[in-house]
Amino acid sequence: MTSSMTSSTWPIALKDATIHPVIEQEGGFFELFGFFPSLTKELFEENRSWLQPTFVDAEHRLMLCIQSFVVKTAHHNILIDACVGNHKSRPTRPFWNMLDSDRFEKGLAGVGLTVNDIDYVMCTHLHGDHVGWNTRLDNGRWVPTFPKARYIMTDRELAYWTGREKENPASAPWITDSVLPIVAAKREHIVKSDFAFNEAISFIPTPGHTIDHFSVLVGKKGEDALITGDMIHSPLQGKYPDIGMMSDYDSVQAGQTRRRIFDRFCEEPTIMCASHFPSPSTGRVRRWGDGYKFVAAS
Ligand SMILES: [Zn+2]
Repeated sequence: MTSSMTSSTWPIALKDATIHPVIEQEGGFFELFGFFPSLTKELFEENRSWLQPTFVDAEHRLMLCIQSFVVKTAHHNILIDACVGNHKSRPTRPFWNMLDSDRFEKGLAGVGLTVNDIDYVMCTHLHGDHVGWNTRLDNGRWVPTFPKARYIMTDRELAYWTGREKENPASAPWITDSVLPIVAAKREHIVKSDFAFNEAISFIPTPGHTIDHFSVLVGKKGEDALITGDMIHSPLQGKYPDIGMMSDYDSVQAGQTRRRIFDRFCEEPTIMCASHFPSPSTGRVRRWGDGYKFVAAS
């Protein structure tokens, strides 16, 4: 990936679908070495020249995008992940606490949609910055933001997080306000992490970051795109797939997942839509020494 890529990267037009980003936030939210606990100063210095300033800022903060992707097909509008959301109490994350922003809704309007047009929401995993817009506040109650949508989640991911929330609600407030209300409204659709939605859209299990994380493959072989979710957070984890991030369920497994996925796609034309990479967040994955790099997809 280079910073010279332009917004003409978007939308990604495939034979069976188009993919559009809907951005909620972009910036340096987390300190690099806290985010990647096993990253050493030495390894960072070795890679500083390509990481700064696009992927790491001058204050050693990791540059991240918080975004959803809309997949439009002939029959459906699908939202993949749902950012942070408004009015959510996130005391441990000041930059996500009680947001009151119209950027997400404007982004949706920018691709010609309103909340009423979304048919499915696919939740790659149930972390707070991926489920927030699942719900909105209505007269003091959390209700589904997308009134017509079915919300697709995996069985093990939902079981894990509802279990944690039951044990200690304060440890996962986003489950309380952004996931359980979907279940209460009977809008959830529970699947396995290798679910095939149709011939052109299927899930690939990418566990490790969370217990049952999946990525979404859109299109057909030779003309497709992979929406990674949080399978990867920074191109640094491409070059060094074994570097875990602070919230991983199992960083060893997450590293194995990255190697398996990148090995599978590194000679393919598949466009990676890496949810947290700075805009335009796309690239094709190619071998780079013992790891992988992202090259411009346009
Ligand atoms: Zn995550």
